[in-house]
Amino acid sequence: MKPKLAVAPLSQWNVPLREKFFVAGPCSVESKDQILQVALHLSAYDVTVLRGGIWKPRTHPGSFEGVGAKGLPWLKNAGLAAGLPVTTETATAHHVEQCLKAGIDILWIGARTTTNPFAVQEIAEAVKGVDIPIMIKNPMNADLELWIGAIERISNAGITKIIAVHRGFSTYGHSAYRNPPVWRIPIELRRRMPHLPLICDPSHICGSRKRIPTVAQEALDFLFDGLMIEVHCAPDNALSDASQQLTPKQYGRLLGRLRYPCGADPNLLSPAVQVLRKEIDAIDDDLIALLARRMECVEQIGLWKRDHNVSLFQLERWEQVLHDRVQSSVQRHLSESFVRDLFEHIHEEALSLQEKIPQAPLGGGQEREPGVGFADDGREDELNELVSKN
Ligand code: PEP
Ligand code: MN
Repeated sequence: MKPKLAVAPLSQWNVPLREKFFVAGPCSVESKDQILQVALHLSAYDVTVLRGGIWKPRTHPGSFEGVGAKGLPWLKNAGLAAGLPVTTETATAHHVEQCLKAGIDILWIGARTTTNPFAVQEIAEAVKGVDIPIMIKNPMNADLELWIGAIERISNAGITKIIAVHRGFSTYGHSAYRNPPVWRIPIELRRRMPHLPLICDPSHICGSRKRIPTVAQEALDFLFDGLMIEVHCAPDNALSDASQQLTPKQYGRLLGRLRYPCGADPNLLSPAVQVLRKEIDAIDDDLIALLARRMECVEQIGLWKRDHNVSLFQLERWEQVLHDRVQSSVQRHLSESFVRDLFEHIHEEALSLQEKIPQAPLGGGQEREPGVGFADDGREDELNELVSKN
């Protein structure tokens, strides 16, 4: 078993927390005045840390890539003027050195950097022996182990104040989100590292202002410890991420409207909820028994397919199953995407079970009739041998 990480809960961070841990500020520090103005406006609301990107990772060269190190004192002074600690993104050891020199209070590791263990290790080496909190965004791709790996590297460097940030995952093609959230990944992170503070960045998930409230609320409903939200005094003129930044006023309004649910002590649940939970436990047992029975049928069919040399995957049958299940689930008000996902999983497992059915031995020298099964017990070994020789 791996040793537990020594991470400090937010209550030990020496930052005054009102409702939650709120990181707010512009995508990028653009000028001394821009960051000062936004910091002063934000100080009217619940903000824990002022953010501002100094070095900006951009998809295409030639876009605004941040003001660079000269912006560090602008950010620090804006924070001092507003009475807020400040944070910026660091992607290299040199960034870290410059931030430490400039008195930046908290560092963050961006999604592109978390994706690359070389870069994370370089940052880990650079912070060894320094007591500075670090926020670690999830990697670009939906890979929990890579995210945990980055957290471990930073923790192994002796950093105890760590926050994980869910900012969604990169995707190809059309999506309602810039980086769709995959809630089960941060939820699994929470299960594996219950003491690790976890916040959500709805700005980079949404990519546009419109859905930020919905995603922020979802995160709070999943008991995230806070939010990171991009705020700019004139969002439409922002030099980066213009469409996803809120004005300070919109930020204040958003925080005022969100609900802040708290975790429930299981002993304090109402009797009605306890009865419902029992019912859910019983339904889940039934579901498992039904799934087991379904897979038994699948195996029987698999034997027949094997003996008749029929392909495991049957496109028409699969299309029919998917269509029918989706139809009946819609009638029962279940979401189509959920039922699709569920049956895709079930189908994949069914195919994999049939794949595992051993080929039946045919007996010495027997000829195989066309279309009547390979029935050659050694066939798989034989095939694998083809590629094991030089
Ligand atoms: C940012 O916070 O400005 C940023 C670049 O975020 P991410 O690493 O999540 O893309
Ligand atoms: Mn941004």
